[in-house]
Formats: sequence, structure tokens, C-alpha cells
Amino acid sequence: MSERFVAAERVREDIKGLVPYDTHPFPKVIRMDANENPYTFPEEVVGEMLKELKGDTFTRYPDPGAVRLREALGEYNGISPGKIMVGNGSDEMIQLLYLTFGGRGRTVFLPVPTFSMFRIHARIAGTKVEKLPMEEGFRVPIEEILKGAEDCQADIIVLVTPNNPTGTVIPEKDLLQVLENTQALVVIDEAYYEFNRQSVVPYLEKYPNLVVLRTFSKAFGLAGMRVGYLVANEPVIFELNKLKQPFNVNSFSQIAAQAALRHREVFEEQIQNILRERERVFIALEGMSGVRPYPSQANFVLFKTPVKSTEVYEKLLEQGILIRDLGKEPGLLQDCLRVTVGKKEENDLFLEKLGVILAGG
Ligand SMILES: *Cc1c(COP(=O)(O)O)cnc(C)c1O
Repeated sequence: MSERFVAAERVREDIKGLVPYDTHPFPKVIRMDANENPYTFPEEVVGEMLKELKGDTFTRYPDPGAVRLREALGEYNGISPGKIMVGNGSDEMIQLLYLTFGGRGRTVFLPVPTFSMFRIHARIAGTKVEKLPMEEGFRVPIEEILKGAEDCQADIIVLVTPNNPTGTVIPEKDLLQVLENTQALVVIDEAYYEFNRQSVVPYLEKYPNLVVLRTFSKAFGLAGMRVGYLVANEPVIFELNKLKQPFNVNSFSQIAAQAALRHREVFEEQIQNILRERERVFIALEGMSGVRPYPSQANFVLFKTPVKSTEVYEKLLEQGILIRDLGKEPGLLQDCLRVTVGKKEENDLFLEKLGVILAGG
């Protein structure tokens, strides 16, 4: 092959060092690594989705405005559909926010550790990232957020609550304090809203700089359909719409999300089970010698082990259980792992195997 074009040399300078997002191609394991809903997707909801499929669903482009889904979401959240934008997962909305309000010469400020996509998409969009380490127990120091954002003249502040991977929340009064005292766009990611039901959506009228992110990937069990949404005031939505790909959410996914919303009582029952199981997993972890679990308001538990987290991760994987190793580097997360709350029997197996591994087995 000709040497005239070397892709690795021609790539944009500022993304040369990026590594592709790490997926976990383990076909036969119990997956407790991605905070998905562990239950089989309800058959009655599938049936309803299939009934709505028509020839048009396949041959015609999807509704670019996702009108019916936005109406259903408006009803779910008690707001006007005009304040909602639907995306191909909330990942797409994160990227769109950076492309629209970030970009070269702009800065995003965020407390860490948090969801890695906020850093990755910032880099892709050429947006500078300024991080503030959380305090012990993963508390977010609000005064320092405001000061830090001002010092770096942040264009965007990102706050995730409940936070991934820690499960901790930022109190509402702290969120409002940030909104009151900054000119930056404040993005509040509520991906785990259905597990704690605390939201700043009711404050939308008051703050023109507020953006809330939600997803169907967690409580609603639709990670495979890629549906997320963003809530903001109309002028923000107007700017985002200029950059949004017109057919970003496919027709089947729009139908699926509407069906899930109509049947939300089914998911409510699953959520209650997950919350009960989370408490059980937390208490069991607390009872293991040297293990420190962190209280969580989401569908996962972060915990620190007395041995190398990577060793625990690998031994669990040998036993057919996949969780998330976050503890490779020194810092607040050193020797921490995150386990997604699964079905009862999955949690039992996880706890049993972890117990054996920590006992030196
Ligand atoms: C899982 C998760 C999302 C969801 O992303 P999707 O693209 O909608 O699947 C968003 N934010 C956080 C903090 C998450 O943990």
C-alpha cells in the first residue's frame, strides 16, 4: 500500500491520544457492569410495541421532532413538550451540548470522579476540561465549584446526581446555589432519577441556564434502544436544534420509549425490587472484613476492597461475573469497584464469590 496517506499522522492533533470506548465482549457472563435494568423486558410492553409497527415504520424516515414521544415525556415530567429534546441516548445530547455551547476556546468545569463521557465528548468537541476533586465520601464542595468555575471562566458546569460511579447525590439547595450564582450553562445529569425521584426540572422556569439530562437506558430497561432526552428552556432547545442530526432517533426506538412510559407501573415494581436488593447488597458488603461500600441512591454500589481491585475484578470474571474496576489509579477511587444491582440470584452469586475471593480463595 502507498505510504502517501498515514491515518495516524493525519488525525486531528488534539484527538491523537484518545482510546476507543472500552466495551466488554464477554458473551456468557453475568453482566453487572453497566447499570442496566437486570430484568427481562416485560412481554406485554414488547407486544404493544410490535403491534404499533407498520410498513411505514421501516420505509419512512423517523419523525425528526419525536413529537408523540415528547408529548408523552411532557406529561411524565409535567412540562411542555417544547422544553424537551430526544436523543440517540443521552450520550448524543452530551455531545450536542458541547458542540453547541462548548467547542474550541470554551471550558467545562466538573467535579470528579464522574461519568467518563463528559470528559470524552468534551475532548472530541475541543472543549477544555477543568476538574475539581470531590471531598472524602464523594461530597461535592459547592463553594469551591462556584469559585473554580469563576476562576476558569467556565462556559459549562456539569453536575451528575445521583453521580456515577459513586451513587452520591448533591443536595437540592446546593444545586440551586450553583444556578443562582453562575452565568454558565449548568447541565444536571439525572440519569438515575427513577431511583431517587429528586429532580430540578420544576426549577426550569426560574433558570434560563439550566439543562437536565435523562435516559431510558437505566430504570426503563431500554439501553439497547438508545433513547435519552434533554430538558431545557425553549431558547436553549432552539440553539441545540440547529446542530441536531434530523433523524437522530429511529422510529422503533421512539415507539419503544412511548410504550415503556405508558407501562411505567411495571417498571416501578422493578425499581422497588432493585432498591430493596441494593440495601441487601450494601449491608452484605458492609459485613465483609475490610470492605467499604458507599451509600448509593442509584442502581449500583461502589465499594473499596482491602486488596487490589483489579485482582478482585479478574477473579470475579473467572467466576463468570462482570463488574466494573475503577480502582487502578491512585486517588479517591483507588481499589474501588462498582457493581450494578442485579436480580436476587445474581446478587447472591456475586456476594458469595466475592466473599470467597476476599477470604483468599
Ligand atoms: C448511563 C448513564 C447515562 C446514559 O447514557 P445513554 O447514552 O442514555 O445510555 C448518562 N449519564 C450517566 C451519568 C450515566 O451513568
